[in-house]
Amino acid sequence: MTRAIYPGSFDPITNGHMDIIERSSKMVDELIIGVLINHSKSPLFTIEERTDMIRKVTEHLGNVSVKAFDGLLIDFAKNCGASVIVRGLRAVTDFEYELQMAQTNRVLAPNVDTVFLTTNLKYSYLSSSIVKEIAGFGGDISEFVSPYIEKKVKEKVKGKNSDEQDRTINK
Ligand code: ADP
Repeated sequence: MTRAIYPGSFDPITNGHMDIIERSSKMVDELIIGVLINHSKSPLFTIEERTDMIRKVTEHLGNVSVKAFDGLLIDFAKNCGASVIVRGLRAVTDFEYELQMAQTNRVLAPNVDTVFLTTNLKYSYLSSSIVKEIAGFGGDISEFVSPYIEKKVKEKVKGKNSDEQDRTINK
């Protein structure tokens, strides 16, 4: 039985991530999406929100589950009993960092291999940061995320903007 993990921040999950999840889940028996708690970045969505959103948009995939994790990726892989780490490659700019991570992880855990899926060309430019930036300026993100995620991002951005307005008024 092959169990794989697909780690990332998923802040928020995009159609590019979904493409990797749908394709890789067909290659393995079980796919666990590992959502990084990430204390260094300040994410738009909390860890609970991100995991809930991913659960919702992957509920049609029977062999996919979602878990939050903190600390070393390789420890998470071992704790899950996974032998494969799935990563997506969008462009050569992703490659150097991904190669370094994969090589390091292989030294730390020789029994866990990293598998790269190249992005679907139509999502090669897409990242969570771009989605957040466009949404922040009130732009249309419907090409980049599912309708459910679009709704969540809009609600979040609206809430954030009105908080900022309140702070400016109360200054
Ligand atoms: P990180 O913060 O670790 O980059 P992300 O959530 O942004 O995590 O991405 C998780 C994984 O998904 C990474 O392997 C990343 O390269 C991949 N990925 C992100 N966006 C896309 C996309 N548009 N197409 C294919 N893979 C993607």
